[in-house]
Amino acid sequence: MKETSSVKLFTDSLHKIAYATDASVYREIPYGVAFPETVEDIQELLRVARERHTHLIPRAGGTSIAGQVVGSGIVVDISKHWNHILEINPKEGWARVEPGVVRDELNIALKEYGLFFSPETSTSNRCCIGGMFGNNSCGTHSLVYGSTRHHVVAAKGVLSDGSVEEFRNYRIEELEERFGEKFWEKASHERLIEKIYAQLINYAHDEKTAKLIEEHYPDKELRRRSCGYAIDEVIKGLTPSPSPNSEGSINLCKLLAGSEGTLAFITEITVDLDPLPPKEIMVVCGHCDTLDKSFEGNLVALQHHPTAIELMDGDILELSKGNAEQEKNRFFVDGSPAALLITELRAESRDELDEKADALERDLLQSGLIYKCTRVYGADVSKVWALRKAGLGILGGMKGDAKPMGVIEDTAVAPKYMSAYMKEFQAMTRRLGANVVYYGHISTGELHLRPIINLKTKEGQQLFRNIATETAMLVKKYHGSISGEHGDGRLRGEFIKMLYGDETYQLMRDVKHCWDPDGMFNVHKIVDTLPIDSMLRFDIGQVYEIERELGTDHTYFNWKADFDECTAPGATGAKSQMNALMCSVEQCNGAGDCRKSNIIGGTLCPAYKVSRDELKTTRARANVLREILTRGGDESLVKEVLDSCLACKGCRSECPSNVDMTRLRAEVLQHYYDKHGTPLRSYLVARMAQIEQLGFAIRPLYNAVASWNLSSGLIKKAIRFSSKRQIPSLSRYSMRQLVYKENCKFQASNFKHKKVFLFADEFTNLQEAELGLTFARLLMRLGYQVEIPKHVESGRAAISKGCLKLAKKFAEKNVSLLADKVTDAHPLVGIEPSCILSFRDEYPDLVAPENRDKAKALGRNCLLYDEFLLREIQAGNISPDYFEKTEMDLWLHGHCHQKALVGVDKTAKVLQQLLTGAKVHVIPSGCCGMAGSFGYEQEHYETSLAIGEMILFPAVRKAVKLSDRVPAVVVAPGTSCRQQILDGTGVKAIHPIEILYRQCLRSVPR
Ligand SMILES: Cc1cc2nc3c(=O)[nH]c(=O)nc-3n(C[C@H](O)[C@H](O)[C@H](O)COP(=O)(O)OP(=O)(O)OC[C@H]3O[C@@H](n4cnc5c(N)ncnc54)[C@H](O)[C@@H]3O)c2cc1C
Ligand code: SF4
Ligand code: SF4
Repeated sequence: MKETSSVKLFTDSLHKIAYATDASVYREIPYGVAFPETVEDIQELLRVARERHTHLIPRAGGTSIAGQVVGSGIVVDISKHWNHILEINPKEGWARVEPGVVRDELNIALKEYGLFFSPETSTSNRCCIGGMFGNNSCGTHSLVYGSTRHHVVAAKGVLSDGSVEEFRNYRIEELEERFGEKFWEKASHERLIEKIYAQLINYAHDEKTAKLIEEHYPDKELRRRSCGYAIDEVIKGLTPSPSPNSEGSINLCKLLAGSEGTLAFITEITVDLDPLPPKEIMVVCGHCDTLDKSFEGNLVALQHHPTAIELMDGDILELSKGNAEQEKNRFFVDGSPAALLITELRAESRDELDEKADALERDLLQSGLIYKCTRVYGADVSKVWALRKAGLGILGGMKGDAKPMGVIEDTAVAPKYMSAYMKEFQAMTRRLGANVVYYGHISTGELHLRPIINLKTKEGQQLFRNIATETAMLVKKYHGSISGEHGDGRLRGEFIKMLYGDETYQLMRDVKHCWDPDGMFNVHKIVDTLPIDSMLRFDIGQVYEIERELGTDHTYFNWKADFDECTAPGATGAKSQMNALMCSVEQCNGAGDCRKSNIIGGTLCPAYKVSRDELKTTRARANVLREILTRGGDESLVKEVLDSCLACKGCRSECPSNVDMTRLRAEVLQHYYDKHGTPLRSYLVARMAQIEQLGFAIRPLYNAVASWNLSSGLIKKAIRFSSKRQIPSLSRYSMRQLVYKENCKFQASNFKHKKVFLFADEFTNLQEAELGLTFARLLMRLGYQVEIPKHVESGRAAISKGCLKLAKKFAEKNVSLLADKVTDAHPLVGIEPSCILSFRDEYPDLVAPENRDKAKALGRNCLLYDEFLLREIQAGNISPDYFEKTEMDLWLHGHCHQKALVGVDKTAKVLQQLLTGAKVHVIPSGCCGMAGSFGYEQEHYETSLAIGEMILFPAVRKAVKLSDRVPAVVVAPGTSCRQQILDGTGVKAIHPIEILYRQCLRSVPR
């Protein structure tokens, strides 16, 4: 730890905008942002905040839904530096962690001990233990494991006066030893911590207070409660009045859980651990013909000791229909039930499991509440939960201004009241004219109710308030909690007084005042909150300032293709395109999937993974875009926040709302260049293929200049490329020339299959022409006639650099040259994923409106090599008999555009099916880090290598190490990926078609 603090306070606009929201509907620009590293830093921040009349907002993953981490103070992000697991004690079953440790990462570390931290959230792969403690989080299995409050045994933290405290279970005797006999009776207290204990002990001793708590706190049967301060929980261990002196004990962690960073700044947490659950798992999926029956059915299922019961309503099930990804996960749904009651059972053996399931099914069917049960076992259970989550994803990604709103999404009532509560709730929402979707943890009475609301209208904001108020009144009637797991933040605080009554609410205010008399921690949360509808993310009649900020009146992409629903009434032409563009930005709801680390996996978002810096998330980019393009501001911030985006398309497929930052980045950069000019480097990279084409005429000279240290050094310096990268040299002949020559050797009648068009992409054509020839030869050997049609470059480099005017020209030209030629029978096949996939992904939205249909049709017939080969294998035209059997390990790294648009499994399948004896290992890497020119750029070089070093490079090194047992080959279809692997590990990776060609028998009958 540092001796003295030199913590930096960031007050620049970029930080402030990125930290102005969480996953809620609120937005407030904070005073500043800080990333403390030590306890002294936090104390220093407290001092600074006091001096500047502001406060600290502790923040972890920032995935809160109720606006807990949105405010005017200094947002203190502990996820960057406080993310270490300090100690695991498997024998005693506890772990001591820093508050920024991600929940799932802790459990990955615990797996080897057969233990886990049992509270969970749907965000568990990026939310942190500190945030879970702050919100008293829990999830699907709370029926068995309770909430975070039940598992935090001790914590350390800084109090509002800067003192450092350890919170754990203390016997009153121990406290008396420290503060003096009956210290709670003293008129004044020397230290803040003494005052805190005295207040709570006095509450326990005071009959009136005890009665207030008894009468006004939610039903004791309720297992989930994150509403208000848990005074009842913290004083539970104390003897009520008249106190027999020093009996009982108190653990402040019980109160700190769910206190949302309003009482203390937590720096260390000790949690107890559970043994991993029994290995056999199944779910019984009860089909109901009315939603109401599922509430009653829940009471029946609860008798059978399930580990979880979840509800999915018919609407969510409908949403998952027709979704290519989710069709395979619907196998257990029979017909169109109004609701599914999914009961999870666990046991040590399959027999025991079946016995439990038989009894459960019998009771459910006999009750007449369920008309059919289906069973799902083992690994397939994850598909059931995936379907539920996907429904939510689709819901979250609902396009248009009306969204399924998080406002009453967290109510919980005791299960016995659910049916009555929901009847009244439905009548109320019908009266208010609100459409609501239902899902949730029904076993504990928690339902996530999401009304569809357009917050940009006056009526929408009114509905937002009305539905929150009326739901709170209903919850009070059924002794429930308006927050079962998500917390109060600024969303629910307004209703706590009504729910708990004036006097109990005052007790809560007194608690806050005692701990934090000067308002140093997360003010206006839980108590004394601002009105529910203040500081909303969207304004009524929201106006976009795109034209002013970007100085433009048109867009380059056709944003309406995906976001037509968002067009404001009356907006036509270019205006409606601008609306649609903004809608695409507003798809980001802040849920933070783009904060997953490399330990969790996936591609999204590489620059964040390597830095753990919020500014490098897709969320930050979307936040800055939304802010500047709606409220105006310094437009250079947009460029700055986009600088770390690799345009890898990870977000396009992995962000549940499909925020497509690659496309947004290209669009915004082109407008920026229109206004300020295109930087030299972007200009040259976008035209690299054209430069190479010129260089090809003087190839020896070009290659000499590119490879000679002095000249290449000067070039790299001039365009700010890293001196450590090589400028690619040119092949002796182009792919076009080589394939033409090869073709001359054969007659069309030599081939038994139809003609295939090859795309001589700009990288393969001049830099790796031999590879292009290899592909042509492979296809010819397999009996396909090949031809490279007349076409121009794909424009991938231009798209990546934001030079859309140029890319548009390439797209138009290619569509005009190829649209009439390329058909389903004669597809255009490419081997460089980023180039051929541009035809499908970007061209249809880049070309002029009159060419869009043509571009779409062309795109459908443009295939990546693996898609084509798999299609032909399935048609019986290619078989493993054409390939030599061999024992080898193939280590496959997929290109990130391929992963986002097609998936890497097709390449794996082709290799596995055709190469008998080969074992294909898909490297669980995300982006390689090179991403076109990104890794070449001086300022990105280190980041680029660090991204490769996360998973890809170690996997490649391991593969090579293992090759002394079985021959190992590293395969990667992307040219940048192969270069990155070479630069990062010294290993030469090859394109998958090279290994296929090597193994392809010469004797294949053409
Ligand atoms: C799609 C989605 C699904 C969700 N599902 C669930 C669910 O199933 N169950 C559930 O419980 N929640 C759920 N949530 C809400 C949220 O993800 C969880 O409550 C989560 O635990 C918050 O963790 P975080 O790391 O993001 O914390 P943050 O949002 O950063 O902070 C949460 C609270 O903890 C406080 N805090 C953080 N660190 C400290 C510290 N060091 N000292 C003091 N206070 C601190 C903050 O001030 C804040 O009040 C969901 C959210 C989304 C967007
Ligand atoms: S960009 Fe996508 S993944 Fe990231 S916070 Fe926004 S919606 Fe979530
Ligand atoms: S394109 Fe890649 S780097 Fe850019 S925001 Fe999306 S995931 Fe992150």
